[in-house]
Amino acid sequence: MLDLIIIGSGPAGLSAAIYGIRANLNLLVIEKDYEGTGQIALSSKVDNYLGLPGLDGYSMGEQFRQHAVDFGVNFLEATVTEISQDANDKHWIVKTADGAVNEAKAIIYAAGAVHRHLGVPGENEFAAKGVSYCATCDGAFYRGKVTAVVGGGDTALDDALYLSALCEKVYLIHRRDAFRAAEITVDRVRSKENIELVLNSQVEEILGSDRVNSVRLVGGRVLDIDGIFVAAGSVPVSRVVPECVEKNEAGYIVADETGVTSAPGFFVAGDVRTKALRQVVTAVSDGANTATAAAHYIENF
Ligand SMILES: Cc1cc2nc3c(=O)[nH]c(=O)nc-3n(C[C@H](O)[C@H](O)[C@H](O)COP(=O)(O)OP(=O)(O)OC[C@H]3O[C@@H](n4cnc5c(N)ncnc54)[C@H](O)[C@@H]3O)c2cc1C
Repeated sequence: MLDLIIIGSGPAGLSAAIYGIRANLNLLVIEKDYEGTGQIALSSKVDNYLGLPGLDGYSMGEQFRQHAVDFGVNFLEATVTEISQDANDKHWIVKTADGAVNEAKAIIYAAGAVHRHLGVPGENEFAAKGVSYCATCDGAFYRGKVTAVVGGGDTALDDALYLSALCEKVYLIHRRDAFRAAEITVDRVRSKENIELVLNSQVEEILGSDRVNSVRLVGGRVLDIDGIFVAAGSVPVSRVVPECVEKNEAGYIVADETGVTSAPGFFVAGDVRTKALRQVVTAVSDGANTATAAAHYIENF
């Protein structure tokens, strides 16, 4: 039996693997999309990770993986389809789509999250060319420019406020006439002179040539913009997580930064965990903390 199975080889999983192997754990990383290391592979430029400014996300991820490979981490390219726990000694059993079964004393679940898309024409075409899902990641590239944020919850309003400090103007496009955000945030948004509320409106198409230059709303209004931030929420990848592991209403696995969940021996790291900021740096930090907690658990197994 293995000591540890890590599910997912994004920044959280790879960081956990490096801490785990340095703690002498006999571990395996299972990853379904071996090409590209998690969500960050989709980013054209990452400017907020300490010490590696300006790298494209794919290269950054490959550097992360090479670090793990050089330290002797073993990988299995497969999709995890089922996780269960042995009734007797409480070790974990992980099944993958290829029919393989691997067993370990502990699990670190680091399968990430995916951003909800609008599903409109132009959205995929201009991904990373003016369409973004993360104001914290990409806002600084729009200093002095005109942007739009789409959404009506806390994230959308926080994004609009964040961008209003950088951009000349921010359109906040929301399909209803009331927001689903905290009242104090709504008041702050309303008080900003460079945020224009575009309510009862939906995006019909994102337009541009090389990059985004405008957005057309249902009904025909066209807004000239340099970038558009979709803040329609994110979805945790937690479908295969067993019921004994507590999740919140949105499906995120409940844990603090130690990664300890409601199920002994099942740890969580990265974007799939309940947390305030989903970024590479917090995923990497989770990986380190969680592998340390898992190593203590395994020692006493
Ligand atoms: C376009 C874009 C730009 C971004 N820009 C930045 C930025 O500039 N700076 C920044 O700090 N952050 C940025 N982020 C956010 C950052 O990428 C994430 O916070 C980070 O990747 C989270 O790491 P993770 O390891 O938790 O999850 P992920 O990166 O999502 O990795 C999870 C991995 O688990 C695998 N997996 C899922 N389910 C299974 C399964 N059933 N079986 C096996 N494997 C599975 C997935 O294939 C994936 O490789 C960006 C995100 C996106 C989408």
